[in-house]
Amino acid sequence: MTGAKETIFRVKRAVFRIETARKITQFCCFVLFNAFIFGLGPWLILLPVLHSPVRPDQITGGDAFAFLQQMLHDAVFPWLPLAAFILTAVFLGRALCGWACPFGFIQNLLGYVKKKHTEVSLRTHERMIKVKYIVLAVTLFISVTIAISVATGTRGSYKEALGVFAPAPFNALSPADTLFATLPRIALDIRYANPNTALTDMFVVRPLLWTRLAIMTFVLILAAYVTRSWCRYFCPHAAALALLNRFSFLGLKRDPLKCTKAGCRACVEVCPMKIRILELPWEKFSDPECIYCLKCVEACTTKAIKPKFP
Ligand code: SF4
Ligand code: SF4
Repeated sequence: MTGAKETIFRVKRAVFRIETARKITQFCCFVLFNAFIFGLGPWLILLPVLHSPVRPDQITGGDAFAFLQQMLHDAVFPWLPLAAFILTAVFLGRALCGWACPFGFIQNLLGYVKKKHTEVSLRTHERMIKVKYIVLAVTLFISVTIAISVATGTRGSYKEALGVFAPAPFNALSPADTLFATLPRIALDIRYANPNTALTDMFVVRPLLWTRLAIMTFVLILAAYVTRSWCRYFCPHAAALALLNRFSFLGLKRDPLKCTKAGCRACVEVCPMKIRILELPWEKFSDPECIYCLKCVEACTTKAIKPKFP
C-alpha cells in the first residue's frame, strides 16, 4: 500500500469507528444540554441523565431525577419523570449513560488525563456498586416523606428541618449541579457583583457551598483515576436504570462459535464498567451495569459480540 493510500485507510478506520461516533454523539448532546449558553432553548426534554437545569424555567435538556424530586416536593405525582425512566430503560437500557449524559461525557474526558487508570479489585467493585442504590433510596425516602407531609398538611417543621435539602435532596449536593449550575452562577456573580461582598458571601459564610465544591472536586479527581467511577458507584440515575436494565429490549449477544474465550478476554479488559461478559448468557445479555458503549463490540477481533434488539 502506498503512503497516501495507507493514510486514507487509517483516517477511514479512525472515522468509521463506533467510538468516534459515540464521542461525536456525546459532544452534540453536551452542547444540546447546555444550549442556554448560546441563547438557545428552552427545549422540553426530560431524560434520565445527570445534568442540572440552570434556571427552572429554562429546561434545556431536563434531568428527570431532579424533576422527580421537585414534583414530589410539590406533592404532584411524578408521572412524567417516571415515564422518562421507564421508557428509556425498556427501549434503551442504560445506553443514554454511554452516549448522551453530559456528566458521563465529562468523566470520559477526564479519563484522558491519566494514561494508566487505577484498577479497582473485583471485591471492592462488587461492594461499591451497591452505594448508588443507597443514594437512590435515601433520596427517594426524603422526597416521598416530604410528599406525604405536604399531602397530610404536616410539612411545616419537617421541611424546615430539611432546609435546602427539602426541594431536591440529591441535587443539593450533586456534583453535576455544582459543575453545570453553581460554578457558572458564581462566575457570573463575581463578574457582575461587588467583588469584595460577593467573595465574602460566597466563600466564607457558606459551608454548604464548600461541601458541594469538595464533593465535586473529589468526584472529578476520582473519575480521572478510576474509569467512570461516578457512574459505577454513586449515580442514582444509574441505580434506577440498572434496576430496569435487565428488562431492556436492547442487549448484546456473543456468538460462541466465533468467540475464542480462552485466550482472549479483549472485551472484558476494555469494558469501562468491569462487566464479566464471558460469564453472561451468550444468547443475550443486558447486564444492569452495561452502558452500551459498544467498546466490547469494537474490541472483539472475531466480531463475536453484536448488539441485539429486541
Ligand atoms: S450513570 Fe453516569 S452516565 Fe448515567 S446518568 Fe449517571 S452520571 Fe450520567
Ligand atoms: S459490556 Fe460492552 S457495551 Fe456494556 S459497558 Fe461493557 S464494553 Fe460497554
